[in-house]
Amino acid sequence: MADGKHCPNCGDDIGVWAVFSAALPNWVKCPHCGARLAYRPVAGLVVGLSVVALGLLAGMWWVGLRFGPVFSLPWITAYTAGSLAAWLPVEAVVVWYVRRYKTLSRAG
Ligand SMILES: [Zn+2]
Repeated sequence: MADGKHCPNCGDDIGVWAVFSAALPNWVKCPHCGARLAYRPVAGLVVGLSVVALGLLAGMWWVGLRFGPVFSLPWITAYTAGSLAAWLPVEAVVVWYVRRYKTLSRAG
């Protein structure tokens, strides 16, 4: 049965980390058999994520311009850490969402 959790090649649950560590939801790799997998359809999701990512970056940038010297090492470090921290809950929701509502298929 095709769902968002089981590899269509080997039938094992690909787990959360395989999705979490993928750069995009259509670049997932099965941790059991190594098959390249893709969630479909994800075009709308990728566009939505890009908007959220740009919004986070713009927000962080605005905070930097408003409150600190943007081009100093402490700020760049804080900016990077803050961006990652802000992204993690977004990514967690995406992992839950695609596993629940999208279908895994073989890429290519
Ligand atoms: Zn597999």
